[in-house]
Amino acid sequence: MATGIDGDSYAGQPPYGPMSAPLQGKELPTFRYALGAAPNIPRDGGWSKEATVVNFPVSEKLAGVLMQLEPGALRELHWHANAAEWAYIIRGRCRVTTIDPQDQCEIVDFSEGDVWYFPRGHGHSIQGLGPGPCEFILIFDNGYFSEFGTFSITDWIGHVPAEVLAKNFKQPAATFANFPKKEVYLVKGPVPPPLPADPAPGSLNAPPETHRYRMLAQKPQEFPGGSMRIVSRKEFPISTTMTGALLRIKPGALRELHWHPNADEWQYYIKGRARMTVFGSGGRARTEEYGPGDVGYAPQGFGHYIENIGDDELELVLAFNDGEYQSISATAWFAANPPELLATNFGVPASTFAGFPKGETPMPD
Ligand code: MN
Ligand code: MN
Repeated sequence: MATGIDGDSYAGQPPYGPMSAPLQGKELPTFRYALGAAPNIPRDGGWSKEATVVNFPVSEKLAGVLMQLEPGALRELHWHANAAEWAYIIRGRCRVTTIDPQDQCEIVDFSEGDVWYFPRGHGHSIQGLGPGPCEFILIFDNGYFSEFGTFSITDWIGHVPAEVLAKNFKQPAATFANFPKKEVYLVKGPVPPPLPADPAPGSLNAPPETHRYRMLAQKPQEFPGGSMRIVSRKEFPISTTMTGALLRIKPGALRELHWHPNADEWQYYIKGRARMTVFGSGGRARTEEYGPGDVGYAPQGFGHYIENIGDDELELVLAFNDGEYQSISATAWFAANPPELLATNFGVPASTFAGFPKGETPMPD
């Protein structure tokens, strides 16, 4: 552990190290990864594909997976050793089971517009409910995460000798003869029956904090240029390490110039056409265009703005690697300073700023 000259430890302080390697060059790297256009990795009952530092080097703090499950298909019992998992349901329905360190279990159904959060290391499964496939975007608070390096129950049980399993589960060793010998990952099965409306008395050991947040049901913040829903740990207490958002931006409108002091931003574009510009200091700025299926990224503290350059509404889902939502906008900053200071700063008359907005305008039209 690092210590200061007075011997105080830096424990609990952010690691203010050097800028990450992909951001150190004279030119900024790409902040776009075409996840939707990448080949689906077919599985028994669905498919998945991921964006991590391996294929998207700038995304060191967050990674994502796009997954589709057919009705009945089960993403098997598993956990992630090095990341929490945040999800947004794009279409369809699925059922999730969870377990936490208190052995509390939640079994809950999700549909379009719902969000889940699984704390790092907590066990979970996901099963498609139909009708039709369920598609969702998973976002993890570690860019070095890989969905293909998770801890799956079949992988583990398949590598435990039968006599140990016999002792562990108090069963004859033969019980395990037909268990898989390697990871199943995704497997087809019957669609499970509806959950009981009223569980039998004494049958629940549910955690105090639910894993589900109905983001589409949240009343959005409305602006001239669109709407924004934010789900941080304030709205969704279990989500201690991540914040999510759903943005809808009207044609021609803008998500204004801003930055996030406390977190990187990982974006998944669902609908419409966008142009994002990221400012990275040292005269560096990079503009790229985004469409459905694309992933975008804005590193912590890097200024950025998003324009809707299409004829239709732009919709994108975001996640940040901090449970608290923080942003600072250029309009708020201008408004917070005297016109005389701005006049000196920009070398123009103070009257220039008379008509500027008096505060933050998250989505001007
Ligand atoms: Mn998972
Ligand atoms: Mn942002």
